This record gives sequence, C-alpha cells and structure tokens, in this order.
Amino acid sequence: MPPKQGPRCRVLGCTYSKKPVPPGTSLFLVPNFTDDKVKNVVVFESWVQLSGNNEHLEIPIKHLRRNMKFCERHFLPDQFQAGGRRGKKLKKKETLPSVFDEHHAPISDEHMSQWRQTQHYRAIFEPLTPRRKAASEKVVVEPPVNQVQHYCNLVS
Ligand SMILES: [Zn+2]
Repeated sequence: MPPKQGPRCRVLGCTYSKKPVPPGTSLFLVPNFTDDKVKNVVVFESWVQLSGNNEHLEIPIKHLRRNMKFCERHFLPDQFQAGGRRGKKLKKKETLPSVFDEHHAPISDEHMSQWRQTQHYRAIFEPLTPRRKAASEKVVVEPPVNQVQHYCNLVS
C-alpha cells in the first residue's frame, strides 16, 4: 500500500505504518543488495521477511529497494551509532531490525520460498545466484530471523 502522505514505516501493524512518523523519528531504508555481496542479499530478504507484510512480495523488488523503510522503533539502542546530529544512524549496514510488537510475525518461510520462485524475484536475483552458491551456504546474519526479539506493548 503506497503511503498517501508523509513518510511511513513498512512494518505491518506498526503505529507509523498507519500515520506518518513524527518529526525527530528516524526511518531507515532497507540495505541495498546490488553491490554483489551475498550477505547483502540475505540482509535484504531478511528485512522483507521481518516486515511481516505479504504485500511486499507482490511489489516490484526495485520499488522495495528504494522505498521500504522501517522506523527506529524496530531497533535496539545499541544498534545505533553514537552522535548523529541529523537523526539516528545504524551502526552497520547489515543491521537487522529486532524489535516488534507482541503480535507481529515475520512472513512465513513458505511464502518466502514461493516468492523466490516468481519471475520478478528471479529476474533480479538470478544473476547473483552463482555468486551466492560460490560463497557457500554459510551466510550468517545476526540475529537470525527466527530469533529476533519481540517486545510487547511498544508505545508510540
Ligand atoms: Zn515502525
């Protein structure tokens, strides 16, 4: 669902998916995956999965890459860099969001697998596939998607 006005968070059910983030609240764009790093593809897919929003699997991947932002509520204080006068910055490019509402669930592995079979997925990621395989299956992102922390009662 494209936002009507104002920047919004793309995490399903987040307060700021329904209304624009207030001034002073940072939004973070999904890390890019196009610089040939296997890890970046994994991180990109993890953000998509963690959004919990199945609609993202229907949206052109290039659009997600430019527009899928999560608000700062989904990160722990120690995932941000110190300082940063113009809003918060994440420490590492491959940071995974790790704080969600109690009832939030990532997109299922089954739906993610189906997504990987689609034309639009393959058109983007298949050129990267030989590198993914060559780099072995030992791509690790922290924390793993199934172990992200779920905090209840996030207050807006
Ligand atoms: Zn949010």
